[in-house]
Amino acid sequence: MAPPLPQRADVVVVGAGFAGLATAASLVELGVRRVVVLEAEPIPGKHGSGRNAAMARRLIEDDVLSRLAVRSVARMGELGNGTPLVRRVGGLLVGEGDALDALARIAAAVPELAAEVERLDADAVRALVPALAGADLAGGILTPGCGVTDIHALLGAFADRARAGGATTFLRTPLTGIRVAGGRVVAAETPHGVIATEQLVNAAGFAANPVAAFAGLAPLPLVPTRRHLFVTAPWGGLDRAAPFVWNVSAGYYFRPEGTGLLLCACDGTAWPPEDPPTDPGAREALAAKFDAAVPGLREVRPTRGWAGLRVMTPDHRFVIGADPRLTGFFWVAGLGGHGMTTSAGVGEIAARGLVDGAVPAPFGAAFAPDRFTTV
Ligand SMILES: Cc1cc2nc3c(=O)[nH]c(=O)nc-3n(C[C@H](O)[C@H](O)[C@H](O)COP(=O)(O)OP(=O)(O)OC[C@H]3O[C@@H](n4cnc5c(N)ncnc54)[C@H](O)[C@@H]3O)c2cc1C
Repeated sequence: MAPPLPQRADVVVVGAGFAGLATAASLVELGVRRVVVLEAEPIPGKHGSGRNAAMARRLIEDDVLSRLAVRSVARMGELGNGTPLVRRVGGLLVGEGDALDALARIAAAVPELAAEVERLDADAVRALVPALAGADLAGGILTPGCGVTDIHALLGAFADRARAGGATTFLRTPLTGIRVAGGRVVAAETPHGVIATEQLVNAAGFAANPVAAFAGLAPLPLVPTRRHLFVTAPWGGLDRAAPFVWNVSAGYYFRPEGTGLLLCACDGTAWPPEDPPTDPGAREALAAKFDAAVPGLREVRPTRGWAGLRVMTPDHRFVIGADPRLTGFFWVAGLGGHGMTTSAGVGEIAARGLVDGAVPAPFGAAFAPDRFTTV
């Protein structure tokens, strides 16, 4: 049975997805003791954090995100207590020459990636992944240190660390109001009671703007965007240890999943801040895209799919930092399509921002909420 809701907390974190649990885990590591995590659902990670493609992609079309991803995946090595949370099967980014050139420039600017990436021509790509025979691509970039994460184990690792350090997570406990006095946060309201606090972390994923509205704050340009994933019947055409394949130009990805494949057509539809249903036409749309773009996968048929929301910002960078309009209101939101990979780093820099008063460089400026607010 859950303990009663405390009357006071040093920090109240709203949301037990990757953003909230990683932040709570890092806060207790920095010595913050009275950390309370509020989660509306009966389980952690019910939304984006439990429905993602589990790809730890460290070379991203943004050098700041790539730096954070590299740092984060390195940290995941320690989080598993000896059990690797990421299977480093590698990532193979394929596409047109211009897109690959842009990624190669980013890799060159991030020392860990510069040391590891390998540029491949189209023949070498097809030799590595025969399923890409007949696919239209100029070449690829292989990042051997990328891979596939056990997302539930990773979420559990953050939850365990937070709990061991004294944080308490309350499930089925939505934040329903924020009390403000004298221009600062003073308390968090829930159906089970009120918690006095001077720091509230908004890690509510697709509901980040509704949470801000509880404090009377105008929304930031955060756009929940629906995407579908599908898995296939057993298929022996791809080695289990093959890298994930992501075509950054045509917009699709696939990787081994169990005895079949996981497939994504990189669809994206703006969606209201609520749990999205699966579009009945998504499976046919995915099959048509793969039939045209990856002839080597024509015999593969998706059997089961689901939808989730990625929360996008206009510049595709995260929102991590104190809100300049309200003292004590801290954002960890807008993690887009990279929130699992970067989670350990996100938690670390968010906790630093809460404890030290400034999110470390270069992330503080890149992710500052004030790039979207008018005070
Ligand atoms: C289809 C898909 C594929 C993806 N693939 C990848 C991938 O391969 N690699 C990668 O790195 N990332 C991937 N992502 C992105 C990644 O999943 C997200 O960036 C990440 O999960 C966001 O975490 P979050 O904690 O911000 O949000 P969420 O996981 O949505 O968590 C927010 C939590 O807040 C809770 N909440 C909301 N309102 C309240 C309230 N009022 N009170 C209490 N609790 C509240 C919600 O119930 C939820 O549990 C993918 C996403 C999708 C949808």
